[in-house]
Amino acid sequence: MNENLSADRPTFVTHLECSMTGERYEADQLHNLSRVGRPLLVRYDLNAVGQALSRDQLAARETGLWRWRELLPVRHTRDIVSLGEIETPLIPVPKSGGANVLVKDEGRLPTGSFKARGLVMAVAMAKELGVTRIAMPTNGNAGAALAAYATRCGIETIVFCPEDTPEINVREIQAQGARVWRVNGLIDDCGAIVGKGAAEGRWFDFSTLKEPYRIEGKKTMGLELAAQMGWRLPSAIFYPTGGGTGLIGMWKAFDELERLGWIGSERPRMYAVQASGCAPIVRAFEAGEEHAERWEDAHTVAAGIRVPRAVGDFLILRAVRDSGGKALGVGDPAILKAVDECARRDGLLLCPEGGATLAAYKQALKDGEVDEDEEVVLFNCATGLKYPMPEAPNWLDRHGAIDFDQL
Ligand SMILES: *Cc1c(COP(=O)(O)O)cnc(C)c1O
Repeated sequence: MNENLSADRPTFVTHLECSMTGERYEADQLHNLSRVGRPLLVRYDLNAVGQALSRDQLAARETGLWRWRELLPVRHTRDIVSLGEIETPLIPVPKSGGANVLVKDEGRLPTGSFKARGLVMAVAMAKELGVTRIAMPTNGNAGAALAAYATRCGIETIVFCPEDTPEINVREIQAQGARVWRVNGLIDDCGAIVGKGAAEGRWFDFSTLKEPYRIEGKKTMGLELAAQMGWRLPSAIFYPTGGGTGLIGMWKAFDELERLGWIGSERPRMYAVQASGCAPIVRAFEAGEEHAERWEDAHTVAAGIRVPRAVGDFLILRAVRDSGGKALGVGDPAILKAVDECARRDGLLLCPEGGATLAAYKQALKDGEVDEDEEVVLFNCATGLKYPMPEAPNWLDRHGAIDFDQL
């Protein structure tokens, strides 16, 4: 048994804080958004964390998400609901990307996407705080991760997804024990149904950033990256941005690591990558706005980033700007071409959202935004196996004459 899952370790959450106003909220109570309707951030006594745990002690533990326990909100080991949240590898893609390009392949996590990081944490906290029924809007992967973890600890789940959500996602959600409904609308329309039921007291609302703990789970991408790279960070990170939980979470992780003295003050430039058919953050970034308006008629092959409106918009934009990065849009043809190139030339099958980061990187390289000498990390957030692939029509009649030269 992994010691990270059995050892009782001290925890250090002091309170939660409104990401907009800084208003303080009690820890160890159920929360959704703050009074002004914005995400809550979890705060820790980092001095005490630093006294309880050194970088070397941390490094000596088994790898995986739960090695970061002192920087996570779950108080009681018994509330951890694990399906094996491994440390994901950094895979070089020299031919399709370049000599200094690494893909952090999140497709290897439980349920095949990095939504597992956020949901394993949020479900553990829901369990700890006595929630028995959860509802969520999803473009697919989040619903699958919720279904898996909630089922495992006996929490009932109801999941709503846009009617054109990939069939495999709808089915995996149902197969893992949730009640799943297709809705004739987009993810925020599904969110409105969840909100209505929550207001009536029917369930707890698990929408992206509407409960505080998914960010803490996603934050582990940033913690892990620093440890994997020998306590430094790459020059640039390309992140496929929908609700932006991962980007916000990593930015928070870097800050916590610096306060612990485990990394310095250097930061990667953060590139928020969106599909040009749904690019509210890119539009707001370019217009110099602090908030992003809803994107109408959103469409893209990269379903995971088809998010017309994000409650954490200002947090994404702030991190991108503070880091010296940008928000970049890429078209579906470039996304599909990047997926194809990475698979055919480097043998790594990306999801379309991962393809978007590769396409954005190539564009940034062309535009002189990044240099090919710079070390860059691209996020592939789900296994490519969940998505449609090009047809493979070849067929052989074993009874006929086989032209071996043609094979
Ligand atoms: C959810 C999802 C994203 C977007 O992640 P956020 O942190 O919510 O912006 C990107 N890619 C895939 C495959 C996803 O499932």
